[in-house]
Amino acid sequence: MSLKGRVALVTGSTSGIGLGIAEALADQGADIVMNGFGDPAQVEKVRADLAARGVRVAYSPADISKPAEIAQMVELAHKQFGSLDILVNNAGIQYVADIQDFPAEQWDRVIAINLSGAFHAMHFAIPGMKAKGWGRIINIASAHGLVASEQKAAYVAAKHGLVGLTKVAALELANAGVTANAICPGWVLTPLVQKQLADRAAKEGTSIEAMGQEFLREKQPMLQFSTPEQIGALAVFPCSDGAKTITGSAQSIDGGWVAQ
Ligand code: NAD
Repeated sequence: MSLKGRVALVTGSTSGIGLGIAEALADQGADIVMNGFGDPAQVEKVRADLAARGVRVAYSPADISKPAEIAQMVELAHKQFGSLDILVNNAGIQYVADIQDFPAEQWDRVIAINLSGAFHAMHFAIPGMKAKGWGRIINIASAHGLVASEQKAAYVAAKHGLVGLTKVAALELANAGVTANAICPGWVLTPLVQKQLADRAAKEGTSIEAMGQEFLREKQPMLQFSTPEQIGALAVFPCSDGAKTITGSAQSIDGGWVAQ
């Protein structure tokens, strides 16, 4: 339980990768502020399951596209648990279209949630971390933070931006006891990817299973999806003493995607 006494806020932790990260941090003893959308009964079940690991768990319904709600979410961590030590910016969405067909409002929405939301959360969380002399910022970017794919203009731009933002934070906080690192997953089978699989399977008249194999063949040399549990295990490491001098990095967990 290496993180006993630490408070971790994981945005978008009602499902997928964020939930995997919240579970992994809770397993190490961190108290958790969870966030994300979902049916209230389902959200409460997730909260109770996390709390059953023997940690305190609060829920913030903040919409990560709204800076004022992000401020309230950070305040909740301080008010309820007394500090915010680990910030995981994970909430994210996808929209797929060629640039010429990309609706401006979808561009704005992806940038707001996947990039600006992380900026605002860091803006509000960093003063408390600096005052305490200890903090960990983990930004969930993507293989798309390092390389591009067609039809994902907003997502690729946001994730490249998030990797850059992580580096700036690393420099600004280098001697403040606060590290900032990005994690860059390849394909992980979550609701975000399941929707893309279903849409393309319908378009190409094939099954979701066959489409999943096709997604891997196109991008991920190790022909298997990573899991939210594996991303969670990776997110625990930057919080450990062994990772004290790792900052400004972009850690790939992508089955070889960006090695190509
Ligand atoms: P997901 O759809 O399963 O989960 C997304 C989470 O974000 C949910 O909890 C959702 O409620 C929350 N969310 C969405 N919009 C929000 C908003 N406006 N305010 C608050 N919460 C919001 O997706 P996932 O695959 O687990 O994705 C999590 C992160 O991992 C995203 O940033 C995504 O870009 C990144 N990522 C995913 C993959 C993948 O293959 N699944 C690969 C690389 C990176």
